[in-house]
Amino acid sequence: MPEPVTLDVLAIAAHPDDIEITCGGTLIKLAAMGRVTGALDLTRGEMGTLGDERSRKAEAAQAGEVMGLSWRGNLALPDSAVAYNQENKLKIAQVIRDTKPELVILPHWEQRHPDHLTCSRLGYDACFLAGLKKINLQGEPYRPRKIMYVSYFRNTDYSFLVDISKYFEKKCDAVRAYRSQFGGEVTAKQIFQPGLDIFDLMRTRAAALGQLVGVQYAEAFTIKEHILIDDPQKIPVQSI
Ligand SMILES: [Zn+2]
Repeated sequence: MPEPVTLDVLAIAAHPDDIEITCGGTLIKLAAMGRVTGALDLTRGEMGTLGDERSRKAEAAQAGEVMGLSWRGNLALPDSAVAYNQENKLKIAQVIRDTKPELVILPHWEQRHPDHLTCSRLGYDACFLAGLKKINLQGEPYRPRKIMYVSYFRNTDYSFLVDISKYFEKKCDAVRAYRSQFGGEVTAKQIFQPGLDIFDLMRTRAAALGQLVGVQYAEAFTIKEHILIDDPQKIPVQSI
């Protein structure tokens, strides 16, 4: 694990490339706004049909550079066998204490891949546990102020959308860094059934989400608490 960096935002996901595909545009945008961003991958993605542990490690580092991440760690938990247990919660909680993000981005809890669901639950619990004084962790108690859940492909309960129009092409570049997964037409089409090209899928989805709020491309997020508005007259997005 690289030396910890104090972060504004930490995205946590199960496999290298999950973050790029789901919230890469938002992370790129936040970095462009001067925020210190980071990513924690729980596994090395070694169970993926294509590529191997080594190629994916190098690809994740390159994708992180494209996204302007200041830190990227990997817990090397077993791919497709990420367990919901106290040991794993504490491993993530230690990263949260070490990097002190104000905002944590987790996978939405409605998922096809069990690792994504487990990551969502582990991540929430880790945010809670990191703030307990008496727990067996290094460093001072710390709890992120905000958790937002990034939409994968199944849920539709969006709380808000982030305009990534200016950053969409760079998001594609970050995903393209995973050459073993998305290096050619054939390999890319093996991942998403029924033979969908990942870049077509990302563009269609981001455009459809953008259309909901009157921008070219967007990414969708869900939060569990309500949004407090100071001035209702200034709420963005036109009604009619
Ligand atoms: Zn994944």
